[in-house]
Parts: sequence; C-alpha cells; structure tokens
Amino acid sequence: MKPLWLRRKTPDAEALNKMRHLLQRFGLNTVCEGALCPNQGECFGQGTATFLILGRTCTRNCTFCAIPSEEHPPAPDPGEPERIAQAASELGLKHVVITSVTRDDLEDGGASQFAETVEALKEKNPQIIVEVLVPDFLGSLAALEIVVNSGPEIINHNLETVPRLYPEVRPQADYRRSIGLLKRVKEINSQKITKSGLMLGLGEEQEEVRQVMRDLREVSCDLLTLGQYLQPSGRHHPVIRYIHPEEFEELRKEGEKMGFKSVFSAPFVRSSFHAAEVFQKIDRPQRSQRTQS
Ligand code: SF4
Repeated sequence: MKPLWLRRKTPDAEALNKMRHLLQRFGLNTVCEGALCPNQGECFGQGTATFLILGRTCTRNCTFCAIPSEEHPPAPDPGEPERIAQAASELGLKHVVITSVTRDDLEDGGASQFAETVEALKEKNPQIIVEVLVPDFLGSLAALEIVVNSGPEIINHNLETVPRLYPEVRPQADYRRSIGLLKRVKEINSQKITKSGLMLGLGEEQEEVRQVMRDLREVSCDLLTLGQYLQPSGRHHPVIRYIHPEEFEELRKEGEKMGFKSVFSAPFVRSSFHAAEVFQKIDRPQRSQRTQS
C-alpha cells in the first residue's frame, strides 16, 4: 500500500480537460499522458506540459515505462515542430520541455526532428527557454551535435537508475553510453546546461545512488532530479521500496554539496517537473554569458 506522502488530491478536471483539448486540437502528444505522470493535474493546471515527439510508441521497452513498444513506429510527422511552436505560443510558455520516445529505427535516432522543433520554437519566440530530454541516440555523436547545435539551453538525459539494475530496468540502454552523452554535450558546447534524473525505489542501494551522483558530477552535470518510481501497471517493474521524503531531502543536500547547481529531490519529482523553477535556480552569470555567446 502507498504511504501517506504519496497520496495526491484529485486534479482539477477543468484544467486537465482544457489542456487535453488544446493538445487534441494541435494533434500533439505529451509524456505526461504517455507515461501516466502523477503530476498531470498540477502541471496542466499551470498550463505546462512536456511535449512528446516522434510518435506514441517506442522501439525499446524499459520495464518501468508505460509507453507502448513497437519495432517500426510510423515515420516522424513533418508538421509536428511547427504545431508545437504554435501550442507553446498559445499556452504562453516561457520554458518548454521536449522529449521523445526512442527511435532506434531512424538513421539519426530522431535528432533532426528535435532540431526542427527547437528552431521552430525559437523562431516563434526567441526568448523562450527550451529544454530537450533526449534518448541516447545509440551513442551517435553526429546526432547529438545536431540537437545541441540547434540551440536548446538545457540538454537533459536521464540515467533513470543505477548501473547494476540496467539489465532488468532498461535492457537496451547502456550506463556508460548515457554518462558519455552528458560529457559530450559539454565538449560540444561548454555553455550548455546539462541535467539528468533518477527514479528511486527500484531496488537500488543508497550508496549506489551516491556513486551515480558522483559519476554525473565527474562529467559536470549541472542539474539533478530524484523522484519515487511508481508502477504504471501490474505488468511493469514492481516498486521495491517507497523512499521517505527525509531521505530525498538528505540526497538533495548531498547533491548540492557535490556541486550540482540545483537538485530537485522529492517523491513526486519527475525530470521535467517544475522544470522552469529548477532552471531559474542556477547561476545568473551563466545565463548572461550564454546570451552573449
Ligand atoms: S526508451 Fe524511454 S520511452 Fe522508450 S520504453 Fe524506455 S523510458 Fe519508455
């Protein structure tokens, strides 16, 4: 049974429906709905959402994820970048998060669709902050360069869990490849903000979490999110442990001591939850340097 701290008040149905109608009108997907995120009510209520590009089905099947798998999903939708820019403008978003399913079936892993979406958003609103939550592009440096050079401020890539659990939690992923991706972002452009996230409660030990945090700091990762894993259905990876909020707070403090510019750590935290606030917490001079570059 879920502990008290994981009880949420019923979301505002009107706000939910308003956002859903807008998404339907623009023919857009969100990871919020695809991944059955518990924060939908709050985020949709605040008029924010994380857009999911490159379709509703993924070429991988991580055991924690509610998004359905398909070996050959439909081709990318060429009109999607422009429609996301229009929706973001209509929502008045100042900070937008773009994520995707993993498309190992595509030559560039979907990198060009990310780039076109970032460019369409920036063309519509040059002031908008764009955060991209990317897959690992099977380690392709060329694909990563396409995305980084398209101009997002934040490049987020989740490690999701500790390396020991990869075979059972994200069998098609590779821990070192993911760490390498975050390292290469800074090599491509040191001004870029990097971010990563873990879900806890999948069977990891606290010391394993600390080691992942150290690995992230070794590649100069700036932002970190830590949240409680919640099982989307009985077919998905079981919850091994519910982490107490005090433990999340302890890890937050340790993370900030390790040098992360911001650590967002609590049961309901997800990688793009309150993304704008997490970003605003970081060092101002870095932002002013970035606008000069
Ligand atoms: S790669 Fe991402 S979208 Fe695909 S199954 Fe894994 S977590 Fe879900």
